[in-house]
Amino acid sequence: MSVKSPENEAAREISMGSNVIAVVGNGIAGDQAAIAAKRTNPDSRVVMLTAEPYPLYSACVLADYVSGEIPRSRVFLRSEGDYARAGIELLLSRNVASWSPPDRLLHFDGRELSYDGLILATGSRPLVPPIPGVERSGVFALKSFEDAQRLRAVRGRSAVVVGAGPVGMEAAIAFRRLGWSVALVELMDRVLPRMLDMPLAGSVRKQFEAMGVPVYLGERVEEIAGDARVRAVHTDRRTLPADVVVLVIGMRPRIDLAREGDLLLGPAGGIQTDAHMATSFSGVWACGDCAESRDLISGENGLYMLWNNAKLQGETAGANAAGFPKCYPGSLNLTTVKLFDRAVASVGVRAADLPEGESKVLHRRSLDGELWLVFRGNGIAGVQALGNLDRVGGLTTLMLKGRNIAETIRRGPKASEGWALWPLHGLEKDLLRLTEDR
Ligand SMILES: Cc1cc2nc3c(=O)[nH]c(=O)nc-3n(C[C@H](O)[C@H](O)[C@H](O)COP(=O)(O)OP(=O)(O)OC[C@H]3O[C@@H](n4cnc5c(N)ncnc54)[C@H](O)[C@@H]3O)c2cc1C
Repeated sequence: MSVKSPENEAAREISMGSNVIAVVGNGIAGDQAAIAAKRTNPDSRVVMLTAEPYPLYSACVLADYVSGEIPRSRVFLRSEGDYARAGIELLLSRNVASWSPPDRLLHFDGRELSYDGLILATGSRPLVPPIPGVERSGVFALKSFEDAQRLRAVRGRSAVVVGAGPVGMEAAIAFRRLGWSVALVELMDRVLPRMLDMPLAGSVRKQFEAMGVPVYLGERVEEIAGDARVRAVHTDRRTLPADVVVLVIGMRPRIDLAREGDLLLGPAGGIQTDAHMATSFSGVWACGDCAESRDLISGENGLYMLWNNAKLQGETAGANAAGFPKCYPGSLNLTTVKLFDRAVASVGVRAADLPEGESKVLHRRSLDGELWLVFRGNGIAGVQALGNLDRVGGLTTLMLKGRNIAETIRRGPKASEGWALWPLHGLEKDLLRLTEDR
């Protein structure tokens, strides 16, 4: 490695001749890539650069931090010392502004870093729609720890959350827990639109309204009104008072460096990768929210921006960059969201995603929740559960194995599984009727 600046001359001397693996980004993908690379080749020099001033934290708990449910210490997953002990050089607050792929050089803060292998783990950034007034003070995103800190410090009484995806739902809950009046606005016809079919989405909406969060579906935000500060949100149907607006309408992959290096992009706009997470440029891998991958169930390439996918992609990219050929099995869209005192989970396809007549569904309501199973042919294609999530793991396994459900029921559980652990317990009659009735 060579870091060209007077204070880094020493680093250049030490690194002469060593195999340098540079990782850009220290989210979960970059973290896992760096750890896997160092573990695979302990003699390599692993340098992780990140624009953020902190080591790894969990985005998944940021809403709980905003509401004060958890302290700062529970957001962070690593300390700088952890990386030092693992033999990984962590360079915080270093934005890699550009790179020269043929020369294998990264440029940051007026310095250069030469590498042998590069892993891009640049993650994603929130999508900010061009709504008039979006620049007013009091309009926030929820992506980074810094966003969460700003939201935690904000004072007011009313919040409008725009976007009823998982992050929007969690943001609405956080402000409700703080005792604010909160409204949720969503352009689509349901909450959690990419996770749920109508019946469960309807139940979640009712739960929100029962907790004092009105949900306005099928509404478009037309203006964020106010003076220097936001005062209200105008939708195409109403005006909602707002001291704070949280815009959470989606994430986009951060591909500035990939574009600069002319890396091939995939159909969804992320960095194209193969089964080893290698990009179109030799010696460069990509992982996490910035990278496209193959869906484990559908086989389609796309962006599957979830923690576990990013983690496994990072491990795969790191091992390959350090010389060990490892394949990424594929991404799984298993999403779980905590909703006040209940949780909702979804995996696979929704009935609404399938052409009419191609799916059958089983909807079970019980005292502790709801289960919604989507079938295509004789196998499970999607699982949605609200409240009791006990069966989700087992049903997902049956789905991933492509099991014929009628045959599975007739055979019964394996001796090692026992009846109690069988995810089809109590559903057998209905499932046989459904899957055999053609
Ligand atoms: C509020 C919130 C809640 C979530 N909840 C869940 C959940 O419950 N379950 C779940 O599965 N997923 C959840 N997700 C999604 C999950 O957190 C992400 O899929 C995952 O964190 C992606 O990790 P990553 O490492 O790919 O990217 P990121 O976490 O985005 O990290 C990328 C890093 O790269 C740095 N970087 C980018 N460009 C440069 C550059 N040029 N130079 C230097 N550094 C750079 C960035 O600063 C950042 O630190 C949630 C996301 C959010 C925002």
